Amino acid sequence: MRFEIDIKCPQCNAALSVPEDNYIFKCGFCDSTFHVTGTNEVLIYYLPAKLTRKEARIKVRAGLMKSKKTSARPSKTLLAYVPFWRLRAMFFDFAFFLEQIQKIQETKSKTYRTTEVEDAKEFRVQDMDVTFPADESSDFGLKSLSYRTEIKSLRLFDPRLTDDGAILPPTINAAKALKMARSGIYSKFGLKLEHTAFSEQRLISKVLSMIYYPIFVIKVDGIKGLTTLTVDGLSGRIMRPGSAADLIELAETNFVPERKVAAKTMGFILFRCPDCGWDLPYMPYNRVHVCEECKAAWYEKKGSFSRVRYDLVSPSDGCGGKLVFMPFWRLVVQIDVGDFKVKDVKGFRQILPYAFPLKDENPDRELCFYVPGFNIKPIKNFNELAARMTRFQPGIKIAKKEDLPKTRLAGVFTSPDDAFRMAKIIYLSLVPYKNKRARDYAEKAKIKLLGTTLTYFPFFDDRMYFRDPITGAFFQKKSVAFE
Ligand SMILES: [Zn+2]
Ligand SMILES: [Zn+2]
Repeated sequence: MRFEIDIKCPQCNAALSVPEDNYIFKCGFCDSTFHVTGTNEVLIYYLPAKLTRKEARIKVRAGLMKSKKTSARPSKTLLAYVPFWRLRAMFFDFAFFLEQIQKIQETKSKTYRTTEVEDAKEFRVQDMDVTFPADESSDFGLKSLSYRTEIKSLRLFDPRLTDDGAILPPTINAAKALKMARSGIYSKFGLKLEHTAFSEQRLISKVLSMIYYPIFVIKVDGIKGLTTLTVDGLSGRIMRPGSAADLIELAETNFVPERKVAAKTMGFILFRCPDCGWDLPYMPYNRVHVCEECKAAWYEKKGSFSRVRYDLVSPSDGCGGKLVFMPFWRLVVQIDVGDFKVKDVKGFRQILPYAFPLKDENPDRELCFYVPGFNIKPIKNFNELAARMTRFQPGIKIAKKEDLPKTRLAGVFTSPDDAFRMAKIIYLSLVPYKNKRARDYAEKAKIKLLGTTLTYFPFFDDRMYFRDPITGAFFQKKSVAFE
């Protein structure tokens, strides 16, 4: 489910609709280009009601007539904006567990069936896109906003909405919402937790937002036992006949005054290089922007551009041909396993025996994790490539930016924070599941981030593939999106 966000151009005030996945957009009226800010926070949106109070009452009256409740009259009508949580993310789950294996052994006279327990590990990844009520104290008869074709675009929350209706405060906070969403996906996986030795989960590309949805609460006079009805403020559907006697009271008493609504909404900054003032290259989903003019690289953080350190890896000698530069987040890490602090490649080999090639000229170099910054699909390939680069621990030679011919740099889609979130998952990908020692280390391991550099690796453009001459990693061209 992808929405558009209705906004006003910060430059010329024209009404615009921007796809919600875009970090960058261009105003079609004044040609200004902007970067969206605030996407790392919980953004608040609302949906305006499509019905008036009167129209909602007419719906209720028609419904009452149809069910032959002719004495009933809709009276007091309240428009309430009810909060929903929305979570979009990729859910990574890595589990080591005990698997029951059925074995059959045959002799001349008899067949034996035995059940043995074996170590196993499983890596799962699942797209999440869920909405659920953020208020658990009341039931308005709407469980989710998913698959609602009426919803095309969202509006940025405006505190003046309180002039129009009552804002219901959420009773489920963000941390609890995340927990609920996670347990929901667990039951979907059908994971047998009792057999799990240990597991790690991560939410990547997480976007948690709140959407206020319009609902009419209508008091009904003249029928015993029926006191209120609720009407969907978008579709006009009567949602909940019957017992919600206290809904009006609830909505009125819990009414949030304007100043109390924590309205974190989107902001916009001009999409220009802070150093030289030139427009940055327009790639709507890109997270790191390399200025074509002065070669400075930028990442939006807390409403302004922060400088990103980046390196280009020197292509190895004698490799001619066409090159593309693919970005990886190079994370310098320390892994603490109890008192044992792993800071270099040598130490990494001690906690991950057999996982590496044995020969190495410089085992004392710093330990790095490599996470693809570019968009590679399917997501399993992303994890495999990260694991391969990290296993290899390439010794790299940094090229001078000015020494390289005009280079093609692929866009960066992974945020540096997500790159670090992936570190433990990558580590677990490298753990041989039958090796108890390596598994025990991994279970206790805590990864500390010491530094992050965006590192572009040269890949050969080799017919259908891109190949890394250093690690031998390769992937299909069509599995990568450049911009
Ligand atoms: Zn404009
Ligand atoms: Zn510049």
